Amino acid sequence: MKRKLIAGNWKMNGGLAANETLLRAIVAGLPAQAACDIAVAVPSPYLAQVQALTAGTSVAVGAQDVSTHEAGAYTGEVSAAMLRDFGVRYALVGHSERRQYHAESDAVVAAKAQRALAAGITPVVCVGETLAEREAGQTEQVVRRQLAAVIHVNGHCISEIVVAYEPVWAIGTGRTATPEQAQAVHAVLRAQLAAATEHAARMRILYGGSMNATNAADLLAQPDIDGGLIGGASLKAPDFLHIIAAAA
Ligand code: 13P
Repeated sequence: MKRKLIAGNWKMNGGLAANETLLRAIVAGLPAQAACDIAVAVPSPYLAQVQALTAGTSVAVGAQDVSTHEAGAYTGEVSAAMLRDFGVRYALVGHSERRQYHAESDAVVAAKAQRALAAGITPVVCVGETLAEREAGQTEQVVRRQLAAVIHVNGHCISEIVVAYEPVWAIGTGRTATPEQAQAVHAVLRAQLAAATEHAARMRILYGGSMNATNAADLLAQPDIDGGLIGGASLKAPDFLHIIAAAA
C-alpha cells in the first residue's frame, strides 16, 4: 500500500534555537514506526542543522526551492548538488509564493524539477489556482497547464515526482478547500498523470492550504489525497504530530 507523505513547509520561519526546539519535540513525539513518510522543507541556511537533528529519525530533509542551473555564476542560487550534499530528499518546486513573488513560469518550474530529479532529489511540484481563477471556472485548466509543463519536460521520469495541489486562496488564510473540492482536483491531476505514466496510481498527490490538526483526517481520507504539504501548522509540534497521526 502507498504510504502517505506529510511534509512541513517552514517557509521563511525559524532560527537556530527555534528549529532545535521544534525538531526535538517532533522527533520525541513520533511513534516508533510512523505509518507515513515525513519531511520538513527548511530554509537553506539551516540544512546542516536540520540534517544533524533528524539523523537516524524518520524525518527527511527537504528544501524549498532549487536552481535551474547546475553550477556557476548565479549569485544567490542553490544547486541541486548542493542540496544533495546535505542529505536533502525532497525539494519543493513551483510553490505559489515563488510563482507569485519571483515570477516563476511553468517552464522554470519544470526545469527545476528536472534538476532535482537529475540529482536524485524528489521534486514536490506545487500547482494551484488563485481565487480569481477559481471564480472564473478555470481551476482545472490552470492546474492541468502547470502540471503539463512538468510532464512535458520530465518525460519518462514523471513517475518519480510528488505533486502538491495548493489552491492559492487556501494558503495561510485559514480557508481550506473542502475534502470534496480538493478530491475533485486531485482526481483531475491523477487522470493527467495516468495519461503520461503507467505508475500514476502509486504516485503521491499532496494537498496543501490551511491543513491543520482539525481538518487533516477528513482531507487525508479522500481517495486521491496521498498526504499533506503543511505551512503554519508544521511550525507547532503538537499540530504537526496530530497531522502525522491522521495520515496513518
Ligand atoms: P498553510 O498551511 O500555512 O496554509 O501553507 C500551505 C503551504 O503553502 C504549504 O506549502
